[in-house]
Amino acid sequence: MGETPMENPIVKINVGGKPFYTKQNTLVQSKYFEVLLANNMDKRIYVGKNSDEIFIDRNGDIFRHVLQYLRLGKIFVKEENTLKKVKIEANYYGLSDLENQVDARVKYLSESKDQYMFMDSDKLLEEYMEKFNPSSEKSTTQKAPKSLQVIKCFDTVEKQTKCFLPHTASESCTHTNHKTIEVPVKKAIVRRYA
Ligand SMILES: [Zn+2]
Repeated sequence: MGETPMENPIVKINVGGKPFYTKQNTLVQSKYFEVLLANNMDKRIYVGKNSDEIFIDRNGDIFRHVLQYLRLGKIFVKEENTLKKVKIEANYYGLSDLENQVDARVKYLSESKDQYMFMDSDKLLEEYMEKFNPSSEKSTTQKAPKSLQVIKCFDTVEKQTKCFLPHTASESCTHTNHKTIEVPVKKAIVRRYA
């Protein structure tokens, strides 16, 4: 770009003990820096070897992610804990778009984790069928989709409450003396890949 160093000078800041050098235009996208770098000299504290770094009393480890966002408009953080800290800093520096990006990223990362589930074998079979062969009659010879892995199948029993008195098909049950019975079911532990 055609800007001169006078128009867009290099700014030296020191965030919580860590020095960062960047251009003024990069920083002033943030409301916080816009105010700080306006001609309010009395708001600045200078530190560093040459006393030429503007001191910011915030987390310098997290600031590198903030600065990367200011430079590129994106964040690449993967750890949820770091993302939480980035969001706090984004709020402090007045970067609401970065806050939104952090939220979106947390959501994306949680959705891209493998899930472990406990499900009925019947439901599992249904899921296979819907996904891979919606038109065909149910067949157990279908290949398991790659996104699902059955880790273990086992037989167990489930308690069900049932009425043993006769009804007609359309009539709903109004009897109260229902019996609890144990029904055999097949269960599976399944891993669903992200
Ligand atoms: Zn009944």
